[in-house]
Amino acid sequence: IRDTPLTNLTENEAILSNAFDAIEIETWSSYYTHGDHIAGRNKSMAQWTADKFTGYGIPASLAEYEVLLNYPVSASVSLNYPDGSKYDAQLFEDPVAEDETTTYPDSIPAFHGYSATGNATAEYIYVGKGHVDDFKRLLQLGVDLKGKIALAMYGGPFRGVKVKNAQANGMVGAILFTDPITDSTQDGASYPDGPARHPSSLQRGSVLDLTKYTGDPTTPGYPSKPGAKRTDGHEVLPQIPSLPISYRDATLLLQALDGYGVSGKDVSRDGWVGALNATYSTGPAPNTTISISNIMSSSITPIWNAIGIINGTHADETIIVGNHRDAWIIGGAGDPNSGTAVLVELSKAFGELLKTGWKPRRNIVLCSWDAEEYGLVGSTEWVEEYAPWLSETAISYINVDIAVAGPKPGAASSPELRTVAQDIMTKVKYPKGDFKTLYDAWYALYRFRLDDHGFGNLGSGSDYTAFLQLGIGALDFSMQGSRGDPVYHYHSNYDSYHWMTKYGDKDFVSHTAAGQFLTLLTYHLADDALIPFDLDAMQKGVEQWLRNFLILVNSFSDLEKLQRDINFSGLHNAQKNFTQAATDFTAWTNQEGFRSNDTAVSLANKKLRDFQRAFINPEGLPGRSFYKNVGYAPDVNDGYSAQTLPGPTEALRNGEDRVAARAQVEITIACILKAVEILKVG
Ligand code: GLU
Ligand code: CA
Ligand code: ZN
Ligand code: ZN
Repeated sequence: IRDTPLTNLTENEAILSNAFDAIEIETWSSYYTHGDHIAGRNKSMAQWTADKFTGYGIPASLAEYEVLLNYPVSASVSLNYPDGSKYDAQLFEDPVAEDETTTYPDSIPAFHGYSATGNATAEYIYVGKGHVDDFKRLLQLGVDLKGKIALAMYGGPFRGVKVKNAQANGMVGAILFTDPITDSTQDGASYPDGPARHPSSLQRGSVLDLTKYTGDPTTPGYPSKPGAKRTDGHEVLPQIPSLPISYRDATLLLQALDGYGVSGKDVSRDGWVGALNATYSTGPAPNTTISISNIMSSSITPIWNAIGIINGTHADETIIVGNHRDAWIIGGAGDPNSGTAVLVELSKAFGELLKTGWKPRRNIVLCSWDAEEYGLVGSTEWVEEYAPWLSETAISYINVDIAVAGPKPGAASSPELRTVAQDIMTKVKYPKGDFKTLYDAWYALYRFRLDDHGFGNLGSGSDYTAFLQLGIGALDFSMQGSRGDPVYHYHSNYDSYHWMTKYGDKDFVSHTAAGQFLTLLTYHLADDALIPFDLDAMQKGVEQWLRNFLILVNSFSDLEKLQRDINFSGLHNAQKNFTQAATDFTAWTNQEGFRSNDTAVSLANKKLRDFQRAFINPEGLPGRSFYKNVGYAPDVNDGYSAQTLPGPTEALRNGEDRVAARAQVEITIACILKAVEILKVG
């Protein structure tokens, strides 16, 4: 275990760091978590945020878009027993006296964003986590899915993928429940008396199919400005109704299936059986049905991003920092308002530095996004509007969604940002437990991960997604709980200010650490003379793309034929060339005297900015042209996790389309070689 002293801060770093005040962060948190801020209904909070930025000396305004949203009107889920009796699920959380926001009369009930209006009464099937492989297994076991309602456990794939899979199997509705087996702890009393999950908590959330595209369903790939032509969004909007329920209610639904169909243990799939008192049998149970009714009202609605800008001396280089502001519920103390409170404090910190007369080399854009929850809508529309300028000037996008839901730091990022991020962690005090710095805590968690130093790859699920499709590298940071930590009530009414002050981050000290990290990272990206990218890490990233692809390739029985069908040596050569170019570039920028040569530094910065764009294939992936990054795309079957080299990988996976795989390999080679060309020195 490392116990390294805090790295000495420079004068500017100290000004930024010392600006952080846990009490003020708590004030911002309290503000954001005591009012409705569902997408399209939070203009006053958007304006408040813009006013904060402006007040700190960062001029800000609202960027408005008109997008399709829907809101719940009425809903019910009932279980109809063979004897004619019925049980109604409770589509809201129990009010908790200690937690004032759960007692508000205007609390938002259980619903799914973009869910379809509709109703159905049918027998139902437990479908595990609703992964495409769960459905395959059910069909293999002879379980009839057509015309039935799906009961699925949260966890694994994005909820929109679960609903899509149910629909694709001819099912007529979907009920999603949270199972305590996926919780960080099941021990102790439940909220508000202890760390365990409240039995009535339920997870709201979007059921859009984000694997096709993100943003407003009716304007794929272009901004939702007034007068924009619109599609009906059928490619991404579900057609069957769906609703979330609590584990208290799910227990009864599962128990009614006990003894019918295939028992959970005979299904024999990892993660199929949860922690509730039931056998997790597939069903159906004879004469046992669910009635689901879901009435939504949908309309084209304005949404508001608050955008603040600090102009740099180099107008053609830009760092963007973003966080969404909309939440499904009144609270949202973790998601997203831990991040929102931190973003406000970050703007204050930069305000302090601006007061000294400092001006960054690069532009810094602060973004408070709306409608992330529905499908990354605010960020996607903004990126679509400013794509030409972003392509020209963006260096990196830094995202914070849930800044704090527990004590453990975690991040996913493009490879070039990993080294600077770790350097910055040595400059941040870790507020909890035995570690001195954030880096020490990081190292203890991830020291075994020699390849990526603990950083995941970016798939989707938050606002960095649209940036990646322009070839803008990104980093997403969060502090969360793991085994043993208090349960975070994601997308539930219990993600409240009260929960945060009692269990999540009592003194807002983790908020402070997260904010200092993001602020110093932004500062260095924006103001270091040479952009602090690690091309060696990037090179390792490209190596990983190939390694992952080869694992798939090697699984084919006609390996030799496949190797003739597809230009592997070209792919290898391109990767080797990239490694060489990265090595040469680093050697160049490490040369003595390099940093005092302004012309050379400025040339190197242009190369660092632009090489990322080479990884963009303007045509996008076959069948989902929104996804243009050849290195990373959200896994089609998961939605959240990243698939490396998605073009060739998907082509080989889906029906072994070798012609497509060959074409995708050629595209990948061309992109890598283009990056080599851009990085080439001299
Ligand atoms: N972060 C949200 C979620 O996971 C939204 C993701 C999305 O709609 O793309 O539910
Ligand atoms: Ca759009
Ligand atoms: Zn969020
Ligand atoms: Zn969320």
